[in-house]
Amino acid sequence: MSTQFDAIVVGSGISGGWAAKELTERGLTVLLIERGPMVEHQVDYKTEMLAPWELQYRGQGDAQLFARDYAIQSKGMSFNEWTYHHFVNDRENPYQTTAENPFQWRRGYQLGGKSLLWGRQCYRWSDLDFGANAADGHGCDWPIRYADVSPWYDHVEQFIGVSGSREGLPQLPDGQFQRPMAMNAVELALKARLQTAYPDRKLVIGRSANMTEEKEGRSSCQYRNICARGCSFGAYFSTQSSTLPAARATGRLTLITDSLVDSLDYDPKTRRVSGVRVLNTASRERKTYTAKVVFLCAGRSTA
Ligand code: SF4
Repeated sequence: MSTQFDAIVVGSGISGGWAAKELTERGLTVLLIERGPMVEHQVDYKTEMLAPWELQYRGQGDAQLFARDYAIQSKGMSFNEWTYHHFVNDRENPYQTTAENPFQWRRGYQLGGKSLLWGRQCYRWSDLDFGANAADGHGCDWPIRYADVSPWYDHVEQFIGVSGSREGLPQLPDGQFQRPMAMNAVELALKARLQTAYPDRKLVIGRSANMTEEKEGRSSCQYRNICARGCSFGAYFSTQSSTLPAARATGRLTLITDSLVDSLDYDPKTRRVSGVRVLNTASRERKTYTAKVVFLCAGRSTA
């Protein structure tokens, strides 16, 4: 295997998967590096179809284990006995924060990262958001406005598949939506009462990267609300369902898993990062890879 690439992408979650897709589709040879194990789409979602009675704790999980090893991860909405293998062990992977700035760092160390676990709600920012800092004098003014980013919202939504209703609301711009999910009876009743009592307020269905229409080998959503186990239908956007197949289809992607990037190579002459140093966490073998450009897509915090 070559150790020289046009680009190296560290991390295979949402941003890493997108970087790999975009760069390979534009002709670059790309090495995508994931620190965790392989999770192959439709093969490795090991709890996807299990019923509660097939799990030792009927889906509630081992309370003692979760308190000891997943004290932070277990606070998340999608953490349970079906999904906890998609989250890091907090005891083995500690981190520190200052007392003034605590945050709960949700992490998933596997191919696809947190793209398997995310909430899937997708909302565009409007010019109210991009102009808020300038309007109220807090922070820095955004260097871009909605018109700059709108074509990129289009690009992403069309590729990943986002369902939603077009409402014409200035504070929540419409996107390139698949047809919206239907509201249930309670939601419809609430919407009607709300519109009568407060005509200027709107109740709209969520805009979600759960598809309502089939798309490029991916099925529409079956509305089971068990997405964080992984979805063999490919009905929600994840690296596995969407960006990774696109990158692989180019023939220009090399993917390695169980490979921890522990440092970067820096060339003082060019004053640029020239590569990454990798530890194979299974074999303990060390290797260096070089590239013209390195993308670090390795871990976003979720408060
Ligand atoms: S079919 Fe829909 S509800 Fe079921 S796991 Fe996939 S995306 Fe989630």
